[in-house]
Amino acid sequence: MVKQEIRRLIERLGENNIPASYSESGDEARDLVMSMIPEGSTVGFGDSVTLRQIGVVDALDKGNYVFLNPWRPGISFEENVRLKKRALTSDVFVTGTNAVTLDGKIVNVDGLGNRVAAMLFGPDRVIIVVGVNKVVADVEAALDRIRKTAAPLNVRRHPEFEPEPPCGPTGVCTDCSAPWRICNKTVIIERQFSNSRYRPVITVVIVGEELGV
Ligand code: SF4
Repeated sequence: MVKQEIRRLIERLGENNIPASYSESGDEARDLVMSMIPEGSTVGFGDSVTLRQIGVVDALDKGNYVFLNPWRPGISFEENVRLKKRALTSDVFVTGTNAVTLDGKIVNVDGLGNRVAAMLFGPDRVIIVVGVNKVVADVEAALDRIRKTAAPLNVRRHPEFEPEPPCGPTGVCTDCSAPWRICNKTVIIERQFSNSRYRPVITVVIVGEELGV
């Protein structure tokens, strides 16, 4: 993506009252994200390869935060659900996203819905980190990317999805009815309030690297 397109995307997000910034590298993005999270905060986490890749998960694990990570090894199913629920009222929720459109919309599809629920309402602040590979032309292209790229890769990284939805082994979406279908809840964030009562909650950090799935 050329710099001019990224500048235009940041402007379009801004017009939708979604503040956004650009970091050249994952390291730069990690430092920016961590600078936005006050020490002592309760931090919710939408399972994100991007945030693991750039080191945000490590930094939260090691730092002075109440990090609500439901995917920490050894956590029981009951604890996993409890942490996902607590994340809905966290101080800060950090997550990746499936796609961002050039006209400034954030598009996500969830299986359970905990990630999109926290993006929509609850946490005082939501920080969304996205690599340039997930910037697409429009909502149609975003949904296409999710079914053809993100969903098959996400299915494959969850061996507990048994039987595996068909896109895992084949890479092709059949609009399945599998018990572990992960395309259940589609959310398009178009704008945030711009009135005096509610400040914008979501901030987007665009990274000049290919990240996530
Ligand atoms: S609907 Fe089913 S087959 Fe299609 S991408 Fe989602 S999980 Fe995979």
